[in-house]
Amino acid sequence: MDKLNISIMNNTQLQVWKFGGASISNPDLVENVGSIVKNYLKTNAVLVTSAKGKTTNALETLVKAYMSESDEANKILEEIKQNHFQYAQALCGVGHPILNELNDLFVEIEWILEDPVIDPYDYVYDQIVSIGELVSTKVVSQYLVDQGIKANWLDIRDVILTDNRHREARVDWEITQKKSNKIKTLLESYDVIVTQGYIASSSENFTTTLGREGSDYTAAILSYCLDADSMHIWKDVPGILTGDPRLFKEVMKIDRLSYKEAVEMTYYGAKVIHEKTIKPLQNKSIPLFVRPFYTPEKDGTLISAEEPIGYPPVIVVNADQVLLHISTNDFSFVGEHHLGDLFTLFAKHRIRVNMMRNTAISFTVCTNNRPGRINAFEAELGDKYTLHKDSDLKLMTIRHYTEEVVKSFTKGKLVLFQERLKNTVHVVVKELVE
Ligand code: ADP
Ligand code: ASP
Ligand code: MG
Repeated sequence: MDKLNISIMNNTQLQVWKFGGASISNPDLVENVGSIVKNYLKTNAVLVTSAKGKTTNALETLVKAYMSESDEANKILEEIKQNHFQYAQALCGVGHPILNELNDLFVEIEWILEDPVIDPYDYVYDQIVSIGELVSTKVVSQYLVDQGIKANWLDIRDVILTDNRHREARVDWEITQKKSNKIKTLLESYDVIVTQGYIASSSENFTTTLGREGSDYTAAILSYCLDADSMHIWKDVPGILTGDPRLFKEVMKIDRLSYKEAVEMTYYGAKVIHEKTIKPLQNKSIPLFVRPFYTPEKDGTLISAEEPIGYPPVIVVNADQVLLHISTNDFSFVGEHHLGDLFTLFAKHRIRVNMMRNTAISFTVCTNNRPGRINAFEAELGDKYTLHKDSDLKLMTIRHYTEEVVKSFTKGKLVLFQERLKNTVHVVVKELVE
């Protein structure tokens, strides 16, 4: 491959690029990343990447095995390790010093596995799962350097600081903003800074994570703190589509979306972008381009403040929902004080209210099925209320609907709960078994 002609870089501009797990899942795709960087990157950039392929899922299995004291843990780790060594060798060459760096990162997991299980699950989870991003970024960064790109690897835990709510940590924006100066300084010497999505650090210096699929959010945090000119997410789809192509055949690309439209889609479960991504970008009017990594020459979707005229119907499906029916035991009306009690408990147990409705003596919410949280919530209801659960449900959100579209999406399903707004229909459905 040709060496990068650095003079084409515009050093006064900055873009944040994010490549997810799918876009670096094998050596050929990392080569594709290299050629996209060479051909399409015209400014300085921060390149955020996730763990490759399904590594995070494999590491989750490893955590489960360790926490349940199963012998499988070491075997799972060995598989992940070998897989990454082969990946690194294919890209950087057999015997490349990067292999030692990967080994050092995996040793951190080995040390944890040698110890008895003492620490809380979520804390251990973050210490182990974060290694996925650290190893993938090491390889991608080294590969770019070997291609003649002035790239430098950065440990994002030195920049993004969070609280210690493991697996769902909240960003300390003030400190992160200050620490992001480190990236600005690095960009005086390098064209591309390669760093990890999803992971961060608590003020006690322990690794935290931002929630599954959180790398998009990392890219938005950095775009905000660095006042980036634009953010670009490279995906295995042509852009944002009118529905998940894994679920619906007849979907089409949407060329332009407003921040408002994007935030509604992602909040209700469009898996294409992490739901927290839009706010930091909207707050600083930073445009977000969702671009196809298989056909980088094509335009993807542009998300910005501009509200395009007219959208096609868009469908978002959020699976694994549960309806919580809460009724008063003494037959009293559900009044403001009851709602106050219940919402205090929702906030305490982090129960997200996707939809709600009340009758004289009952209150119903549709929420994501998080059994641990729901059980803790139920335990605190005491003898004032009775909880009845309806699970295995889906929440379908149809934006810019027509009657015909609603009918076709709900066909063959039992509709348990429906809400119609001007632009949106939310329906909670159960699949009818034939
Ligand atoms: P990443 O590699 O960045 O983690 P993801 O796999 O998380 O990428 O997200 C891309 C996937 O999101 C696509 O392959 C597609 O199946 C899914 N998806 C869900 N809803 C949509 C949508 N509305 N438009 C495009 N893709 C969608
Ligand atoms: N690797 C993490 C996950 O799979 C974060 C991400 O991919 O965005 O959830
Ligand atoms: Mg993802």
